[in-house]
Order: sequence, then structure tokens, then C-alpha cells
Amino acid sequence: MYEKMAEPYRIKMVETIKLIPKEEREKRIEEVGYNQFGLKSEDIFIDLLTDSGTGAMSDNQWAGLMLGDESYAGSKNYYNLKDSIKDIIGYNYFVPTHQGRGAENVLFPLLIKEGQYVLGNMHFDTTKAHIELKGGRAVNLVIDDAYDTQKEHPFKGDFDIDKLTSFIEDKGVENCAFIIITVTCNSAGGQPVSMKNIKEVKKVADKYGLRVFFDAARFAENAYFIKKREKGYENKEIKEIIKEMFSYGEGLTMSAKKDGIVNMGGMIALKEDEELFEGVRQNVIPIEGFPTYGGLSGRDMEALSRGLREVVQEDYLQSRIGQVEYLGRKLDEAGIPIQKPVGGHAVFVDAKKMLPHIPYHQFPAQALCVELYKEAGIRAVEIGSFLLGRDPDTNEQLESPLELLRLTIPRRVYTNNHMDVIVEAFKNINERKDQLKGYDFTYEPKVLRHFIAKLKPIE
Ligand SMILES: *Cc1c(COP(=O)(O)O)cnc(C)c1O
Repeated sequence: MYEKMAEPYRIKMVETIKLIPKEEREKRIEEVGYNQFGLKSEDIFIDLLTDSGTGAMSDNQWAGLMLGDESYAGSKNYYNLKDSIKDIIGYNYFVPTHQGRGAENVLFPLLIKEGQYVLGNMHFDTTKAHIELKGGRAVNLVIDDAYDTQKEHPFKGDFDIDKLTSFIEDKGVENCAFIIITVTCNSAGGQPVSMKNIKEVKKVADKYGLRVFFDAARFAENAYFIKKREKGYENKEIKEIIKEMFSYGEGLTMSAKKDGIVNMGGMIALKEDEELFEGVRQNVIPIEGFPTYGGLSGRDMEALSRGLREVVQEDYLQSRIGQVEYLGRKLDEAGIPIQKPVGGHAVFVDAKKMLPHIPYHQFPAQALCVELYKEAGIRAVEIGSFLLGRDPDTNEQLESPLELLRLTIPRRVYTNNHMDVIVEAFKNINERKDQLKGYDFTYEPKVLRHFIAKLKPIE
């Protein structure tokens, strides 16, 4: 294989995108209160808001849609999906859910007693929300290096094993519900977890009699990083690595909108615990649907069944992770400060470093998002103080430790020419970065404000 390989697919169908004129972009973003969530997708040239549900399905997946068996119970697509899960993940039992949070909603009440802690490397926000809704408390026990954007570490999603052990000792094992390993660690920037660390977590879990689950949205990307970065795995097949990884857990929740390469879908899968599966089957009916379809139609289960088999292909993963790395490398070469090393699904630009003249309460990463749209019709997302919000007691704006702009790359959607345009846009902005202004609210909702807030530039 060549060092720099081309995509292992060719394009059969295209969707037109357009760069609308600059004056129109400036008007559109002003109309929506300088909040890119309010933009219409047809006014966007390159949409990097998320990699969730935005991937391109293959011809094989589209063909599978035509084979949807929409029987209420016992659809053959359910059994096809069951076979894929057994073959790739190695687990015996599963129920489909409409997406990842649906799986969390069904599984967590069976695992958490009021007031118990759920121990994670770093919880995704819907995971944390569902833990708290079920009376639990989510704790992040990731290594400290995860919080340092400049520190090179091959597995920044790893648990700090000392923190994990002392937390259990401190609070008492009876106050801990279970351990959840998020692969890759989304909230830490798509950073992988090593097999060594997963094994160590399992050892701690066994010592205290706790169960290990996975939040498995990007399981294949994690396996690829293990193959590339961890000694002893360089000659293993991706499928072997995935099986080993999941062998250390009792079960998983998965948002299939990421490594399932479908636009909607999720699941709970369990290795062998029949009793827990019985609970899941009972819970899923009133919340998602009958256990053989959960939250999905037959055709969607078929697309997912095929997506799982495609995502574990090494040439696909090389091209996928390689594209994110390519964008990171080019931005770095252009002198744009980014999180290092680059994670699996996104590049994070350090807006605090790039725009030191804009204080946290004027949202530097949001200012950069607005500028990026104006410059080249690119939609990114702010992960910083704008997202974090206010202290619920004092109503003071909280200061996020990091002010990041996330460029999230959808799977099999854009080419490296698009990546080059993103880099050009940043180069242009970098030349006038001192002129960028901070933002203040004209409308600020109380909860989850970043989705619908309206802003204005501070003159
Ligand atoms: C996306 C995601 C979820 C939630 O899944 P949805 O499909 O968006 O409901 C949970 N955990 C992680 C790590 C995720 O990336």
C-alpha cells in the first residue's frame, strides 16, 4: 500500500452543494443571530457540525434498504443484524434503539440505584444526562494529559487507573453502579483508549465486583488506533482487536450514527447476561418498541447490519482516520493551533491560543465559527464557554478550561479538496485574526442555550 492512499471507493451519486456569495453569507449569519445552528443547510458549503448521522451509505447499504422486512415481530433484518453483531462484536444479545440516547434510556435504569456513581473515562453529554435522570452521578476519571491540548500521548482517552481505584476506595464500592468506557473518547476529542488500559480497568472492576460496559459509538476507529499505536497489535486484524476489546465488557450502548455509518440507529448489546437481557427486553417495549425492532424499521436494521461489516475494513479506516489526520497536519503547517494528536473524527482548533484578545465571556471559539462561515461557508461548532453556560447558583458565566472550535468530519462525504478549502479559509482568517470581535447575547435561553441563543458582535 502507498503511504498516501486514495479512498477505497468511487462516487456513484452526488449531492450538489453551493458556496453562496460572501454578502449573502454575511446576511444569513446575521439573520440567525450569529449562531450557526440556525442556518439552513442549503446555505452551507462544507458542513462540519457533527459526524453523527451525516455519513454516506454505500451502494450495498442502499440496496439493503430494499430488502427491508417490516414485520412487527421477527423481521429477518433483525436476525441479519444479530449475526453482524455476533460476528463483529462477539455479543449474543441485543435490542435495536432509535439512536444512542435511546439505548442509554433503556439500559441505565437497570444498572443504577439512586445516588450511585457511574465511573467513566469521560462521559458524553447525553450519557451524563441519562445517568443523572436515573438518579446516578457521572464521574470522569480520564488521565490528566487529556486536558492538555499540546501534550502528545497516543491514548489520551485512557482511564487514570489510580484515580479509578482511589475513587472506588473513597466512596465505597456499594456506591458505584458500573464502569463505562467510551471508545473513542468523544468528549476528550475523539481520543482512543488503549487495550492495555481496557484490560487494567477490567482488572480493577473484577477486584471490586463491578461490571464494565462500553459506550461504543466509535469502536472501529478506536480499534484502528490500537492497531497503529499499541505494541503487539500491529499485525492483528481490526476484527480481532474489536473482539478482544469487547471481551473485557459485559455489554454496550451504541450510537450507530457514527461507526454504524447509518443516518439513524443505535443498540444495546450484551455478552451473555440473560437476566439483564430480560430486563432490557421488558424496558425497551414501552420506551422504544418491540424487542425485534426497538426504535428502527426493518430496512434501517439492514443498512446498519451492512454498515457494521463495512466499518471494520482496514482500508476504509485508513482513509477515514487518514483524512482527519491530513486536515490536522495541514492546519498545523499553516500555523493554526490545534489539539494534538488529532483524534479520530474531528480536528479541534484552539481558539484561546488563536484569539487571545477575546476573553472567555465573549466566546472566542464562537467568534471563530462565525468568521469561518463568513469566509468560506463552512459550519463548525463551538466547544467552550458558550456551550458550558452559567453557574446555576450565581448565574455567573463559567469559564471553560478550553475554548475549542470543532471541525467534525462526516464519513465518506468530503474529499481532501474540501479539506484544502478549510485550510485556505483558516489561513485567510489568521491574517486578520486581530480584527475579530467577541460576541454578546441578544437572546439567551435558560437551558442548552447554545442551540438557539442569538448573539451580536461587540463593537
Ligand atoms: C453520539 C454519542 C452518544 C449519543 O448517541 P445519539 O445517537 O446521538 O443519541 C453517546 N455517546 C457517545 C460517545 C456519542 O458519541
